[in-house]
Amino acid sequence: MSRYIRFLGWVLFVAASAVTVGGCVALAVTGGVGALMDYLASFGILTLAGFAAAFFPGLALIKLADRLERGGGGCDVCSAVPAAGVFSSRFGPVSHAACEDCRDEGAEPLYMVCFHIHRAGGPEAAEEFLGGARSFHQGRYIGWEDIVGLYPEFADEFDDR
Ligand SMILES: [Zn+2]
Repeated sequence: MSRYIRFLGWVLFVAASAVTVGGCVALAVTGGVGALMDYLASFGILTLAGFAAAFFPGLALIKLADRLERGGGGCDVCSAVPAAGVFSSRFGPVSHAACEDCRDEGAEPLYMVCFHIHRAGGPEAAEEFLGGARSFHQGRYIGWEDIVGLYPEFADEFDDR
């Protein structure tokens, strides 16, 4: 699926670039630099809009494909690719994709650990239950103390629901 999205994105992206650049080159070759300058001087808003209408959706589609591929194959904990498999949380009825390192570390996505804390009623209430939790943040594995330190960043988001 993401492969087709990426392909479509590239087609739009390349077509927009090729038509614009190729058109200018062709004009310069056939009509000389003078013709090209005339063309550029009259570069209308419609030409620009036509280019943007293909160029930016193309880029967006390529980015979308990237995101789909990451979500479909990467580790939910540290974002490494590929994930080794899907594992159940030790703390609730949810599962996540994890790479071998995160599986061995017993690390779970920070967002999910914080959500478990939220559901348990906050860090103090959750410590007995979640004190052994491990997660990943900014390139390293973290334990309970660090998780509690980061929890407020997520708590606001949970409260809104
Ligand atoms: Zn990982």
